[in-house]
Amino acid sequence: MSDSNCLFCRIVSGQIPATKIYEDDHSLAFRDINPQSPVHVLLIPKRHVVSLKETGSDDHAVLGHLLIIAGKIAAQEGIAESGFRVVANSGSDAGQSVFHLHFHIMGGRPMAWPPG
Ligand code: AMP
Repeated sequence: MSDSNCLFCRIVSGQIPATKIYEDDHSLAFRDINPQSPVHVLLIPKRHVVSLKETGSDDHAVLGHLLIIAGKIAAQEGIAESGFRVVANSGSDAGQSVFHLHFHIMGGRPMAWPPG
């Protein structure tokens, strides 16, 4: 399922370009257009899911898959040893701006906690 009005669905379909760094049948990873750290990758399910709030029991496999892939991407990007952060902003207080579930994979610099 995809949503023709959704930016990330359009990246999945190739209608909008992105710097893709990983792809398989269920997921796609590409570089964030406005990186907030030396490594800033977005990892998404190909299927249109708005956010973690909209996930259900059908999504067990893909959510597990995405988190395993996040670790592999961190290794591929050379930030697995130095440390990395995986973030899914969900809803307005969290600052979600694109309403297709995505995990930010960030690293390459020390990060503060708590986030702003
Ligand atoms: P969020 O604010 O958590 O919803 O994150 C959305 C992210 O998508 C932001 O970090 C944006 O910089 C990024 N973004 C928006 N448009 C694009 C695009 N065309 N290609 C890559 N990243 C994008």
